[in-house]
Amino acid sequence: MLPAYSQQRLQPHLGFQVSTLGALNVGVYEGAATLAELKRYGDFGLGTFEGLDGEMVVLNGKVYQIKTDGAAYRVVDTVRTPFAAVTFFRRGRSLRWTGQLTYQKLQQQINEQLPTPNLPYAIRLQGTFPYLKVRSVPKQTPPYLPLNDVVRQQQRVFELRNVRGTLVGFRLPQFLKSVNVAGYHFHFITSDFKAGGHLLDGEFLNPVVDMEMLRDWQMMLPNNIAFEQASLE
Ligand SMILES: [Zn+2]
Repeated sequence: MLPAYSQQRLQPHLGFQVSTLGALNVGVYEGAATLAELKRYGDFGLGTFEGLDGEMVVLNGKVYQIKTDGAAYRVVDTVRTPFAAVTFFRRGRSLRWTGQLTYQKLQQQINEQLPTPNLPYAIRLQGTFPYLKVRSVPKQTPPYLPLNDVVRQQQRVFELRNVRGTLVGFRLPQFLKSVNVAGYHFHFITSDFKAGGHLLDGEFLNPVVDMEMLRDWQMMLPNNIAFEQASLE
């Protein structure tokens, strides 16, 4: 199932994703790759698990699952993902600001520093965060509801204050919007790896932003009936 190039040495600055956001949006939650397969393409990233079973954080080569109790769990390599994006993170630039910024302001500030908006970036923020609003979603059973319905009806939201940890994410160009989240997408994990979630909002004090510009973006398309029969944009 894995393409042959996975056995070769990966080129640097490669982003890799499993399936498409469009497929996840219409409820294709069937696993398309194992975590063992995903880890061949990166040690840093985010996603979800088969059945939309919570939020995935990949950090330093370890995969964490944040469930709807807000807690983070380690996951075995045989678990499958219907959607994930990873890279082997190598810090290029670090940007820093002083003072407190909203999430929206932080995005604007990073945007102003980008060499180009037309390449993907892997982004890491480490530190203490005054406020983070994160969420997770519960495991679904077939027939699967569309992602928006699950989020609207079933997401669990957590507000964290003065919390230490790492935001793991990407900023992707607008032209990738049918295959992934265009713009910023972060998942959070606390420094004790016990809690986290998909970032909805936050306040940032003296943020330091580590970034890597990615030069390639590869996709693994699912080998399953659900993907083949889905009505995809
Ligand atoms: Zn997310």
